[in-house]
Amino acid sequence: MFKIWSLLSAMLIVIPGWAASKKPLKENPVFAEWTGPYQGVPPFDKIEVDDFQPAIEGAMKKALAEYQAIADNPEAPTFSNTMLPMERISLDLERVMLLFSIWNSNLSNEEIQKVEKDMAPKLAEFEDQVVQNKKLFDRLDTLYKKRTISQWSPEQERLVWDYHQSFVKKGAALNKKQKKRVAEINKRHAELTTQFSQNLLVDENEDHLLITNEKDLKGLPQWLIQSAKQEADKRNKKGWVIGNTRSSMEPFVTYCPNRDLREKAFKIWTARGDNGNKSDNNKVINEILKLRAERSKIMGYDSYAHWQLSDKMAKTPQQAMQLMMKVWKPAIKQVDKDVAAMQKIVDKEKGGFKIAPWDYRFYAEKLRKARYDFDMDSVKPYLQLPNLQAAMFWMAKELYGFEFSKLEDIPVFHPDVTVFKVTKKNKTVGLWYFDPYARQGKRSGAWMNAYRIQHRISGDVLPIVSNNSNFVKAGEGETTKVSWSDAETMFHEFGHALHGLSSNVTYPSLAGTSTARDFVEFPSQIHEDWLSTPEVLKFLTNDEGEVLPQKLVKKLKRAASFNEGFATTEYLASALVDMKLHLIEKPDVNPKNFEKQTLDDLGMPSEIVMRHRMPQFAHIFSGEGYSAGYYSYLWSDVLRHDAFKAFLEAKGPYDKAVAKRFQKNILSVGNTVDPGQAFKNFRGRAPKVKALLQSKGFVR
Ligand SMILES: [Zn+2]
Repeated sequence: MFKIWSLLSAMLIVIPGWAASKKPLKENPVFAEWTGPYQGVPPFDKIEVDDFQPAIEGAMKKALAEYQAIADNPEAPTFSNTMLPMERISLDLERVMLLFSIWNSNLSNEEIQKVEKDMAPKLAEFEDQVVQNKKLFDRLDTLYKKRTISQWSPEQERLVWDYHQSFVKKGAALNKKQKKRVAEINKRHAELTTQFSQNLLVDENEDHLLITNEKDLKGLPQWLIQSAKQEADKRNKKGWVIGNTRSSMEPFVTYCPNRDLREKAFKIWTARGDNGNKSDNNKVINEILKLRAERSKIMGYDSYAHWQLSDKMAKTPQQAMQLMMKVWKPAIKQVDKDVAAMQKIVDKEKGGFKIAPWDYRFYAEKLRKARYDFDMDSVKPYLQLPNLQAAMFWMAKELYGFEFSKLEDIPVFHPDVTVFKVTKKNKTVGLWYFDPYARQGKRSGAWMNAYRIQHRISGDVLPIVSNNSNFVKAGEGETTKVSWSDAETMFHEFGHALHGLSSNVTYPSLAGTSTARDFVEFPSQIHEDWLSTPEVLKFLTNDEGEVLPQKLVKKLKRAASFNEGFATTEYLASALVDMKLHLIEKPDVNPKNFEKQTLDDLGMPSEIVMRHRMPQFAHIFSGEGYSAGYYSYLWSDVLRHDAFKAFLEAKGPYDKAVAKRFQKNILSVGNTVDPGQAFKNFRGRAPKVKALLQSKGFVR
């Protein structure tokens, strides 16, 4: 996931008074053009939090004036007097917003959250002022209508189409009264989505599981015990505190043998945003849904889902639903089989209970051990961060000819961040920033950011990308080791980075990762597949320098699709609920009832709950990036498995010709080509689902 600037992290308790920067705008480092080597780099060493609000407001004001100048141009609209200046305005705005999103995701605090809360409705208002500028849209519309008879390049034609459809999608073609209502809706919507995230944060920060009896730590991994101790110290509590975040709660319910504690933890975790208190999200959700449906109706769509999918690769909700149901059925069948096997373990142990959601992960681990004699933790000593990084670099060279060399003296926002120059045949391709470790104020999970988008509208501009994750940093003198799924995440995010670095287009709006949401995870997901190639596994050594033993590799591969029934079911339950929610034409939803009814109708196994229950489903309620779009991961996954097969059908994962074709047709084209066509250009045909089902072990 990347580029969701409204997603918050860290504490929200009291909002202090706000002091804006006294610097003149020209000297404001957030607002100013970047200077330094490599065509300028982010001025991380100069920024103060007080700079953000004036910079964002200044950037919006400047942009509005510039848009108005385009609109007021007495000359007839042309590509160069309309499209080009609009592209330049976006670049300036994005530069400012990007720096704010970096602080918001990596160094958040109360001040940053205050800026977000103040700015979210203003940004929504700003966007509407641009989209609803009639003279501006008329120019765009004129260009759009003559795009087929013009002498433009295919990329220019696509750019005009892209702007036009996104203006129309946001209501540019509506009448005055409709526009007014849409603007009201958008402003309120922005307030509500910010409210949703901030409510969620309250529950994630404040609720927790306190353990006071040392005996209850039995079975937990050492690192979890350590972090629980630290968490308790931080909160001035005696004992151990399991924080209310996925990275603490999930391992806790996976390893804690005490069933009552598992239940307690699981209930705290799945009740985020649903506690009937001040931070309850249920009413917020209902209002968001109502506004979304109303706005989609005004835009002329049957439902929000129809509106949202109109510019996606899937194109219609039906197409997305069809794919989801194709995978849902074999997934729940697999769950039935796994639950039966787990129940046998419970019965053999004379447990005297039926597997409940808080038991699933715990008994799945037991089943994994019984079936494959394999413990995921046994590979961890071989997953040293520096080795994984070296392996990723090696992969990038082998596939795309990219070479990485570390740079010193480039400003960073935290001492843990490292910067690399990326070259191909000695020519600089771009920069890659890496921020691997968890810290206070950094949002959870892993993501990629495009710090600067590749383009050629003012010289040959180099892309700058970053990868950020939340690995637990090792103590002094030790090497950081990560889990297998963390390693997959590293390759995944690096895939997004390679997508950004491979970009080779003219117009920034169409560059790099600016593709349809249901396509963008494809270039990242496919790179996960290179992690388990023998060439990469050779890089993985333990502290003694021994390579990951073949015996473990074999077990790892045999167990690769284990628990896919669970993972697919919990994910798809969320994706299906997301789509069905947004298909309602006149929503008035009680989230609890809706979840229950929808999941009952789908035949959801009672031993599993949704990966994200509605009151905590930040993907779809913290903003609009993934709303009616959570299916995107599955959609991209189909493309990923089918595309990787193209390598296997040739000489293997490092087949030079296929890699070249992949980079040329998928990684470098950004959004200059329709995503369905781009896939066909690479694969020679439309994508097939079979490779995905095989990878999950659902079919042979
Ligand atoms: Zn991703």
